[in-house]
Amino acid sequence: MHYQGERQQVIRIGKEIYQQGLVAGTWGNVSCRLKPDHYFLITPSGMPYESLQPEDLVVMDLEGNIVDGERKPSSEYRLHVRIYKERPDAGAIVHVHSPWALAYAVAYQPIPVLLEESAQVLGGPVPVARYAHAGTDELAAAACEALGKESKAVLLANHGLVGLGKNLEEALLVCIIAEKTARIGLTARLLGTVNSLSPEDVQYLHQSFRDYGQPKPKN
Ligand SMILES: [Zn+2]
Repeated sequence: MHYQGERQQVIRIGKEIYQQGLVAGTWGNVSCRLKPDHYFLITPSGMPYESLQPEDLVVMDLEGNIVDGERKPSSEYRLHVRIYKERPDAGAIVHVHSPWALAYAVAYQPIPVLLEESAQVLGGPVPVARYAHAGTDELAAAACEALGKESKAVLLANHGLVGLGKNLEEALLVCIIAEKTARIGLTARLLGTVNSLSPEDVQYLHQSFRDYGQPKPKN
């Protein structure tokens, strides 16, 4: 079987979104781009994350064809296809139905940049895509329109949250930070004023976070 490492990673992230309460049951889905980069690997439709096996994942191309796999792919594969086509920077996509982000998705309000973490990881507010039925081309189009070329995440109206990353770890982190920001935003409203970071501070924090940590080894 090809792509063993990627299969293990997708399963690990799938278990993580389930265990962290970002999805219930078999909702949500996870994918990552493969080599060649017009292929991607995606979770199957309607199977519990806890029991996923490497062979349950589906390899697809950016035309929406199944390249390898016995299972039916996630019903949201059109969303993944469209994002990979329109966002060459996306190496992985995590889609969840997390409750605090969903509150904003129901209110049709973007999640503001409230925390340093939001500025660092998300780099801007999380926009809301207009409502469209799950699994449709219309939803994929609405999500990409709201995402534009820069956003790392998008809220799907009355539905959920999608996070993009250069890899699976980053796409998961984007979802976790968007969910945390939404939780803090709504909790802070109980205290009164909610103060967002200024665009200048967001830009500074996002830029400096890229340089954070240990320098990359030189080749
Ligand atoms: Zn969904």
